[in-house]
Amino acid sequence: MTIQTIGVVGAGSMGTGIANLAAINGFNVILRDIEERFLDNAIQRMDQFMAKSVAKGKMTEEQKLETLGRIITTTNLEAMAEADVVIEAVIENMDLKKEVFSELDRIVPEGVILATNTSSMSITEIAAATKRPENVAGMHFFNPAQLMKLVEVVRGFKTSDETVEMLKALSKNLSKEPVEVKKDSPGFIVNRIMVPQFIEAIKLLEEGVASAEDIDKAVTLGLNYPMGPFTLQDFAGVDIGYHVMNYFKEEFNSDQYAPPMLLKQLMRAGRFGKKSGAGFYDYEQEKGGIYQ
Ligand code: NAD
Repeated sequence: MTIQTIGVVGAGSMGTGIANLAAINGFNVILRDIEERFLDNAIQRMDQFMAKSVAKGKMTEEQKLETLGRIITTTNLEAMAEADVVIEAVIENMDLKKEVFSELDRIVPEGVILATNTSSMSITEIAAATKRPENVAGMHFFNPAQLMKLVEVVRGFKTSDETVEMLKALSKNLSKEPVEVKKDSPGFIVNRIMVPQFIEAIKLLEEGVASAEDIDKAVTLGLNYPMGPFTLQDFAGVDIGYHVMNYFKEEFNSDQYAPPMLLKQLMRAGRFGKKSGAGFYDYEQEKGGIYQ
């Protein structure tokens, strides 16, 4: 099937980036969220993102408007009936994802691929909410989706070879580099490696071995990473790491992945995470240095 229209469910950070990326690469997009204000916000963020490209001379104002013109926004999930492939990017909650996939299975024509942008959760379990598990796979983008080059294409237990090949080809048509994750394992490749690094970084801070700033500096300069673990967690939202750690702990039956006390404290304080925009550095500033 030739893909012309991409459905994106969820217009948060990732859904907005994926929808924008698809439209920039010439696809028509149907973007769905539960309230109009989230959709308005998404379009505004795409406009801001592309305005920077216009300012840098990477895109003309006309191209920016054409790109926005390829995106239809809706609060009605039934609109996904017109999509040639659907990418789900609702919040990281298994029950919600299963509900969305079960609904999509009813709405979207047979044979159309349903992909999930989950960061860590079981593709097999999400696929089991549909009658087409062979057409369900992970398509894991990174934040911001317009810029980050990698897509992890993840097989569920029943995902067909055709589905995997189709999503790899689609990733390339979206100007991305796909890698295939051959088994449905929590966190796939990148988060399986990154989350233990977050945990060790937080433990170093707790133990008073170094400040957050110096840990970030060490990782940036010593490992040649573009940003350190605290800057990255603050950027992504400390709540995301917390949820992934708990999921890993449960799935791998191992306390090795349990969230460190400091992260639990941030979560319990209820003022940290993506919604508030506050993270480790804000906490450190407030406390005048953590455990120092
Ligand atoms: P987010 O909280 O920014 O956005 C989620 C959006 O989904 C919200 O706008 C919410 O209103 C919407 N939503 C909730 N229920 C819905 C429904 N039934 N139908 C349509 N929309 C609905 O979350 P996010 O950071 O964009 O993450 C989305 C997914 O992508 C998660 O599975 C997350 O783990 C994954 N992910 C996140 C990142 C990241 O760095 N933020 C990176 C890769 C993958």
